[in-house]
Amino acid sequence: RHYTKQDIYRLVEEEDVEFIRLQFTDIFGNLKNVAVTTSQLGKVLDNECMFDGSSIEGYARIEESDMYLYPELDTFEIFPWRPQQGKVARFLCDVYKPDGTPFEGDPRNILKKVVKEAEQLGYTFDVGPECEFFLFDLKENGEPTNSSKERGGYFDVGPLDSGENARREMVLTLEDMGFEIESSHHEVAPAQHEIDFKYDDAVKTADNIMTFRMAVRTIAKRHGLHATFMPKPKYGINGSGMHINMSIKKDGKNIFDNPEGKLGLSEDAYHFIAGLMKHMEGITAITNPIVNSYKRLVPGYEAPVYIAWSATSRSPLIRIPSSRGINTRVELRSPDPAANPYLALAVCLAAGLDGIKNKLTPPESVDKNIVAMTKEEMEQCGIKYLPANLKEATIALEQNEFIKNVLGNYIFTKYVQAKKEEWNQYIIQVSQWEIDQYLHRI
Ligand code: GLN
Ligand code: MG
Ligand code: MG
Ligand code: MG
Repeated sequence: RHYTKQDIYRLVEEEDVEFIRLQFTDIFGNLKNVAVTTSQLGKVLDNECMFDGSSIEGYARIEESDMYLYPELDTFEIFPWRPQQGKVARFLCDVYKPDGTPFEGDPRNILKKVVKEAEQLGYTFDVGPECEFFLFDLKENGEPTNSSKERGGYFDVGPLDSGENARREMVLTLEDMGFEIESSHHEVAPAQHEIDFKYDDAVKTADNIMTFRMAVRTIAKRHGLHATFMPKPKYGINGSGMHINMSIKKDGKNIFDNPEGKLGLSEDAYHFIAGLMKHMEGITAITNPIVNSYKRLVPGYEAPVYIAWSATSRSPLIRIPSSRGINTRVELRSPDPAANPYLALAVCLAAGLDGIKNKLTPPESVDKNIVAMTKEEMEQCGIKYLPANLKEATIALEQNEFIKNVLGNYIFTKYVQAKKEEWNQYIIQVSQWEIDQYLHRI
């Protein structure tokens, strides 16, 4: 769907839109917005709306803080949950500097850069995410908790699945907003859910993930629930992942598909996997961005722990789902929904592309359950661990020149610095676990 300026003027008029939100994403994946009334529509469409970037985390220094918002017309969407007279609509925007060049700190620009590079080879990236989240109870005063009375499990139905009404409205709302929802279901853990929408090109999918999170949180709240994308909100049960399914099209054909190839995969598919694996340690600080992310990446909860791939086993980091033909794809299972989708897709796709450009060969696939392997067997197969915590991941990111180039100096420096601070803050806390373990005994 493509909108012209005329289309937007007409839609705003016909739909009785009163407010327009100009949205963008900060380095850490937070959606931000400024609202204007439709009296400003001309300015909005002429890229003349400006904001002070100095208060946005990771954005400009004080002396160069004026930033311009260039709306992406095709992202025009009316919020179904706002009043239907004097409606509220939004655009997702690119952030530009006063001199008319893209702002280096805008994650959306970073992903566009990677996409452009692929286009020069005739490639388009297709990406389909699987977003998992929890629906927790609110306290009487409205504060979110990390608990729920719900006891549902994988694919359970109501009334065990008490999130079904909220989930139903989420699906309908997202459809209203132009999403094609492929399926939705109760996930393994109590109060955990997944909604899958159709793959699209990389930028559109990252946009969709941002819209998805906003819509899911909003609808949950209307049902008296708290939706959280925190990767591991509770010890002892599954965390929430955001598996990323990736493929590349050239001349309308999926280049990962080859019926004659080993496992029905092309050489390029293997190169792509190899590129991902090569850069995996450096990527992880982006795909798993917070201290809590690493509480999910532990054995026993269907989340990956080791750097390995397989077409048959379901536990590895990289999996090849069974569909072939146009749907042939590589699934990366480490990312979690705390990630900035623009940066996460940028680094994953760039890593895979690096594999294709340099014709890298992946290690042998590991088709048995790695969790059941001994340390010696693992060493024999050359299987490495993912970074164990945010500190290790940040160090690995810092050492990866290739990923540094993808992110650009600006985001790279701010990101690494922020993650180091986050770790330093975390590591001096005294946790409940320590109190429980030590207070009585020592
Ligand atoms: N929740 C699991 C994770 O953390 C994934 C479960 C699944 O979808 N098979 O990645
Ligand atoms: Mg799934
Ligand atoms: Mg799932
Ligand atoms: Mg999956």
